[in-house]
Amino acid sequence: ESCRLMPAVKADAYGHGAALIAKELCALGVNAFCVASAWEGAALRESGIKGEILVLGYTSPHQVHLLTTYDLIQTAVDCAHAHALNEASYYPIKIHIKLDTGMHRLGERSDHIQELASIFACEKLQILGTFSHLCVADSQKMEDILFTKLQISAFFKTIEQLKEQGLNPGKLHLQSSYGVLNYPDLPLNYARFGIAMYGCYSSPEPELSRKLPLRPVLSLH
Ligand SMILES: *Cc1c(COP(=O)(O)O)cnc(C)c1O
Repeated sequence: ESCRLMPAVKADAYGHGAALIAKELCALGVNAFCVASAWEGAALRESGIKGEILVLGYTSPHQVHLLTTYDLIQTAVDCAHAHALNEASYYPIKIHIKLDTGMHRLGERSDHIQELASIFACEKLQILGTFSHLCVADSQKMEDILFTKLQISAFFKTIEQLKEQGLNPGKLHLQSSYGVLNYPDLPLNYARFGIAMYGCYSSPEPELSRKLPLRPVLSLH
């Protein structure tokens, strides 16, 4: 009940039209979104979208002005990125820290506690959240389920260690569509719902689609 949706409206809302989808979601009471780039976030603001907008991808320190002008929350994709943003900005920047719990795409390693702690010491960074990405949450293979459980426990362990140092990791989020569908009971603050919100499974899912029949929101006439 304490978990809010933060739908993924990146890539032009998966081709549906980012402004159109975000406006519809606002009307339904959603007030947090995630996008891939600062440009996508800026375009959403230009089309009148209020609420929180989290940029999931890397933003160059040369583009920090986009973050402050458009009131975007930026992902610190690792410790070096956080420090570079801190150096580059005159104004405070809102940040969610990305932890790498095993996907090895973006994120500071979740066991690098001192590096993570150094991000909290950056004067211009307001740390509002901490998150990670479950990379095989869609799979029903035993090894993938075990891997996902390891990612989840690594995430919460890091959160505990930060709290023990008196640091506040802010709002927490881990799940994309399949995280929500397959691991619904986690104590988190946001769910980054994407493909399933548009009414699609990203792989054939006989079992899930019996339990939860999704209908595509897009139709072609
Ligand atoms: C795209 C994306 C999502 C949404 O993923 P779906 O599988 O479409 O639900 C969530 N989190 C991150 C970091 C993403 O890049």
